Amino acid sequence: MLHIHNTLSRQKEEFRPIDPTHIGMYVCGPTVYDFAHLGNARPVVVFDVLYRLLKRHYPRVTYVRNITDIDDKIIAKSKESGEPFLSITKRTAQAFHDDMDALNALPPDIEPLCSGTIPQMLDMIATLIEKGHAYAADGHVLFHVPSMKYYGELSRRSRDELIAGARVEVAPYKKDPADFVLWKPSAPDQPGWDSPWGRGRPGWHIECSAMAKMHLGITFDIHGGGLDLIFPHHENEIAQSRCAHDGAPLANYWMHNGFLTVNNDKMSKSLKNFFTVRELLAVAPGEALRLALLSGHYRQPLDFSVEALQKAKATLDKWYGALRGKAAAHAEKLGVPVALEDALLDDLNTPLAIAHIHELANELNRAATPAEQAPIRARLLAAGEVLGLLQQDPETWFRWQPAEGAGPTDAEIETQIAARLAARKAKNYAESDRIRDALAAQGVILEDSAGGTTWRRG
Ligand code: AMP
Ligand code: ZN
Repeated sequence: MLHIHNTLSRQKEEFRPIDPTHIGMYVCGPTVYDFAHLGNARPVVVFDVLYRLLKRHYPRVTYVRNITDIDDKIIAKSKESGEPFLSITKRTAQAFHDDMDALNALPPDIEPLCSGTIPQMLDMIATLIEKGHAYAADGHVLFHVPSMKYYGELSRRSRDELIAGARVEVAPYKKDPADFVLWKPSAPDQPGWDSPWGRGRPGWHIECSAMAKMHLGITFDIHGGGLDLIFPHHENEIAQSRCAHDGAPLANYWMHNGFLTVNNDKMSKSLKNFFTVRELLAVAPGEALRLALLSGHYRQPLDFSVEALQKAKATLDKWYGALRGKAAAHAEKLGVPVALEDALLDDLNTPLAIAHIHELANELNRAATPAEQAPIRARLLAAGEVLGLLQQDPETWFRWQPAEGAGPTDAEIETQIAARLAARKAKNYAESDRIRDALAAQGVILEDSAGGTTWRRG
């Protein structure tokens, strides 16, 4: 029996599907303006484990994860770089797919684009106006927050906190400071679509409400994403969808992963303390990144370091070492070990599941004869599969090398050291630490002394 922690109730609950023959799950996907960092990969890997688990227990699962390809960050990026908007979104979505494949995350069943769901968004906005929950003003359409009885049910914030937290612009056309945008006007050089309120583009929140409805219906089972999405994004998705659907819930279970942190700060673009999946894949196999991401419980913060990544790689070396050269039995396919499945059914306890894999690997190492080894080997492989691990041939694993030319050249290292020095002089220690950590992730160790900074390839 699956139990999951539901953000709505702040409790672990037994999972009761709407239709046990068909589970619906929606997870907010990436905004495609830049490479995904490892923090962005955390929800992808966590919900991939849940998706695999659901697929083992229910005959059909529809997993929807969108691509946010309309957003002001993309517009800003295009303006700054001169690269056309569509070229950025296409290129970045492709990079995201490649990176998530490298982490062995299964593709979702449906991956809608915001740009492909505009008519459904316009429909929902019109319904919200009709029902008195939204109003048009100055080329914008705004959701009127005081019209929503349950507003704040997910984030449990007071009205003052809601307004402060939303950091919403106090624009003159707003009836209430908490009101948020459903539709806004686009300048001629910005992407835009015709609408009854003029040429414009949707706000972020309505995008997910419309895509979820289109592919999963009015109420579905599970909605997921990172902790930072609870407010305002998910609160606003709930407000829009419930008001458009006469109060019907949007999702019955809301699940949120904790942050991936670096020295206890959230990994983020704005703090500049991030590592992209792309740069990490040049220095460690995707499977090691995946194991590192699953080594903590999904609801807890998880601190990332190059050492943690190296440890995950060493663990996989050990597991693949146990598998190496062990004969396969004929009837090799075994079910998932019960203890391991129970760990995952208990709100995705991946650390406990990993502990079971450790035990199996040790058991396999202790087994003396092929007859003893074969069933343990099969159990270990089945156990790895549920976490999306241990699916490669051990020989392939051991042949892995850092990407050709992945390491920076001497001149690149010197340039980075100069940039780090400049950042330190400007007292921008977050940036100087980021540069040091980024070099460390690429195997370059900096050593500071009174005479300056020297470096070595570690
Ligand atoms: P974004 O593209 O910023 O909307 O983020 C995509 C997904 O990554 C969302 O589910 C975020 O909650 C999640 N996310 C962003 N940063 C982190 C982080 N440092 N740790 C865990 N999840 C994160
Ligand atoms: Zn969303």
